[in-house]
Amino acid sequence: MNANLLVEALSRELPPGRLVIDPDVLAALSHDDAEWAPAGQPAAAVRARSEAEVQRVVRTCAELRVPVVPRGAGTGLSGGANAVTGCVVLDLSPMSQVAEIDPDNLIAVVQPGAINNDVKAAVAEHGLWYPPDPASAPWSTIGGNVATNAGGLCCLKYGVTRDYVLGLRAVVGGPVGYGEAVRLGRRTTKGVAGLDLVGLFVGSEGTLGIVTEVTIRLRPAPVSTPRTVVGAFSELVASGEAVAQITRRGLTPAVLELLDRACLQAVEDWKHLGIEADAAALLLARVDTPGESGVSEAAAIAATMADAGAIWVEQSTDDAEAEALFDARRLAYPALERLGPVLTEDICVPRSRVPQMLEQIGKIAAAHGVQIANIAHAGDGNLHPLIVTPPHDDSARIAAQAAFEEFLDAAIAFGGTVTGEHGVGLLKRDGMRRELDPGSLALQAAVRKALDPREIFNPGKG
Ligand SMILES: Cc1cc2nc3c(=O)[nH]c(=O)nc-3n(C[C@H](O)[C@H](O)[C@H](O)COP(=O)(O)OP(=O)(O)OC[C@H]3O[C@@H](n4cnc5c(N)ncnc54)[C@H](O)[C@@H]3O)c2cc1C
Repeated sequence: MNANLLVEALSRELPPGRLVIDPDVLAALSHDDAEWAPAGQPAAAVRARSEAEVQRVVRTCAELRVPVVPRGAGTGLSGGANAVTGCVVLDLSPMSQVAEIDPDNLIAVVQPGAINNDVKAAVAEHGLWYPPDPASAPWSTIGGNVATNAGGLCCLKYGVTRDYVLGLRAVVGGPVGYGEAVRLGRRTTKGVAGLDLVGLFVGSEGTLGIVTEVTIRLRPAPVSTPRTVVGAFSELVASGEAVAQITRRGLTPAVLELLDRACLQAVEDWKHLGIEADAAALLLARVDTPGESGVSEAAAIAATMADAGAIWVEQSTDDAEAEALFDARRLAYPALERLGPVLTEDICVPRSRVPQMLEQIGKIAAAHGVQIANIAHAGDGNLHPLIVTPPHDDSARIAAQAAFEEFLDAAIAFGGTVTGEHGVGLLKRDGMRRELDPGSLALQAAVRKALDPREIFNPGKG
């Protein structure tokens, strides 16, 4: 496709100020936060401000057979928003309004570019809460969260993005016609009219169409002050034992996160929060059950950590100290990125297998001589061993890649999955094919072909 023809066609369709062809700006819009995923060169980008503009972009690109790569904030960790050479990057971040908050029905309607934390703040003014809380909530968009079915810290108790999406508007193609906008799903708490197309779109990584509006389910804002339980372990695997035991005993913290020494040290060196990185791993649990039940639950979690071999366990409702640890959890990824290119793993295993998987991670890292830092939504079994390599060291990169693939195989062997929340993007394509049943892969390919026969929606991803 001739890039000039494409730019001329888009200029005719769009108001001034939407089209981006400046090479430096295009370069910044052409990749997400997955440093290791390859990115192509886009022909142009469009900063869309309305569904109508998204429709015009999709129609034009479909006519010219140009790929469209949707993008929210670009915080993805799998290369899902990375440009395909010659594509149009469709930046949805300017569509950032919270269009409606309906406290009577505990729902809100938001545009895809709304930042997760901004949505939380807007609904909090009505005494409401939008639970999904990826650690990227200060930056990532609801559209990106929907497209990746983002998880987060409190998803252990409250569920992932999919559990909060009631309806969508999307600009689609295929049988409806490229550039048509459709409404999927509903506004009611229940509803089984037709196939669950919302469920199909959530987590589809922009490969089925462009999400232009999301109707989300809300909860009443929590009223009680949460209790924090912190356990320190001299062995990483023992912290995994505690996670398995907490699950086995039927305890339900709202949050159960793991941070190893390498993460704590990296955050402390950067932010000086006053955290002592003396233990091999910390488990951070948060209990939000109100009243005496919450007190007993926190005590039971503390006892379980001690039983699993914690060197110390502390409980608190004092926010300052606990918040410093949760801040450390949220800052771990950017803190490690400062040390060199980070290859981010996102495996998820059955929770009883967390200790074995942690052990296996250590063995694989040692075998390949790679430096690992572990953070995890441990209570979900969702582990993020992060491989940090020295800059410009090709042999370290090769070793990191080999370790990365072995982590995937180990997770599959333990009955787990290659991606718990970041999505397949570019980094997990091979792993997904190793994990999924061939029949499942064939069904997915058929769905994609039916909904996007021209293969313009984020091709080559997922
Ligand atoms: C520090 C840090 C912490 C993180 N913590 C978490 C975490 O705890 N849990 C978690 O799940 N993830 C986490 N992530 C990963 C990332 O933030 C999530 O995947 C997030 O959902 C991506 O949102 P985004 O707006 O940045 O989307 P982008 O990265 O821009 O895009 C992500 C995917 O969605 C598609 N997409 C975006 N918008 C649309 C749309 N409107 N319609 C259709 N497709 C679209 C893109 O094509 C791409 O495939 C973290 C990332 C960082 C950098």
